[in-house]
Amino acid sequence: MAAKQAPRWQGRFPSRRANPVPRGVQGQESHICSRRFLFTRKSSPLPLFSEATNCQLLLRLCQRCSRTQPTTSRGSPRMMDQKPPSPTDCDHVPSLSPATYSDSIDVHCHPTDTPDSLNVIPTLRTQRLLVMGTREEDWPLVAGAAEKWPEKVIPCFGLHPWFAHHCPAPPSASEGSTHPPWLQTLTVQLESHPTALVGEIGIDGIAKDRTTDARYPFEHQLVIFRAQLQLAARMRRSVSMHTVRCHGHLVDVLREMLASGGGDGAEDDPLPPRLKHHSYSGSTETTRALLSLRSPHRGRKRASLPTPGSRMYFSFSAGVNGRSPKAMERIRAVPDDRVLLESDTHDARIVDAAMEDACRLVAAAKGWTIEETAETTGRNARRFLGEEG
Ligand SMILES: [Zn+2]
Repeated sequence: MAAKQAPRWQGRFPSRRANPVPRGVQGQESHICSRRFLFTRKSSPLPLFSEATNCQLLLRLCQRCSRTQPTTSRGSPRMMDQKPPSPTDCDHVPSLSPATYSDSIDVHCHPTDTPDSLNVIPTLRTQRLLVMGTREEDWPLVAGAAEKWPEKVIPCFGLHPWFAHHCPAPPSASEGSTHPPWLQTLTVQLESHPTALVGEIGIDGIAKDRTTDARYPFEHQLVIFRAQLQLAARMRRSVSMHTVRCHGHLVDVLREMLASGGGDGAEDDPLPPRLKHHSYSGSTETTRALLSLRSPHRGRKRASLPTPGSRMYFSFSAGVNGRSPKAMERIRAVPDDRVLLESDTHDARIVDAAMEDACRLVAAAKGWTIEETAETTGRNARRFLGEEG
């Protein structure tokens, strides 16, 4: 008897009735990972998946993710009682040719959240990864990965808004100049890694503390965010930012910073050299506002600096952006030379596959071929890193 064929991707999300969850995966339906989200999201307008990425495969991949760590519960206890899969367990082979990855830079990921996965980093097709640090405890892991695989890992250090409430606010200028220990440690990490960026930092208008079900205090997030932006500007480091449902506040913070920096030289530049909006979810109006940011100060040296709007980059992941019905419109609103790709995954084993999905998402929105998308976003990423003019 011929083996039953796995259901193939047919351009829309199949119902669970038509494609019953296989035995062994049942009971894990509440498990969340970026690829499972893509599978279960019936309203997505996007033909995201390649021929090779059929539903069966997604479910198997999900089963693997669930054995390590749900990708959206950053910082939650890991499921240590279950054996993590070895890289060879995973049969999700990216369907794009290795050549397509020759320019690829994953500009936002969190593989240190799954330390067991880190060893696959040297084998990834994706050329380089910007590995985010989100809290003091994982900064040494990020630093360790960058020191072990310097050709592959670009470290980023920052305090994520979901962890900001654990850390005291820095004193204001009138209160004194002693920085709290976390900010001192962050400064030391950046000093010891001259190529490191600042990230992941930002503000989140909806995330809640799971233990109390309360929103993270927003004013405190703003203070912590501003302090890190100022540090990045002072140390001339680019930043990776998380902004959810508070883009108006983001624009206000950037305008305030621009207004405060009244000096006339590059050393007085109040903004970091380049700013990346990760898994960008702002409206078209916000995109326009960010791109048209100008310094209110005039001066000969200041005029030679890149305008604030020209420093903005926007990265897209299939896991977050692919879930939104506004994804196409959002990506199209971003100029071609500012679009970046990111996996936003918390497991290094998924990086190549998630980059492939991000590439397909941007290609669909921009009307580019996969090759054009890979090449353009790779070039943009090098410019974001300051490697190309
Ligand atoms: Zn992130």
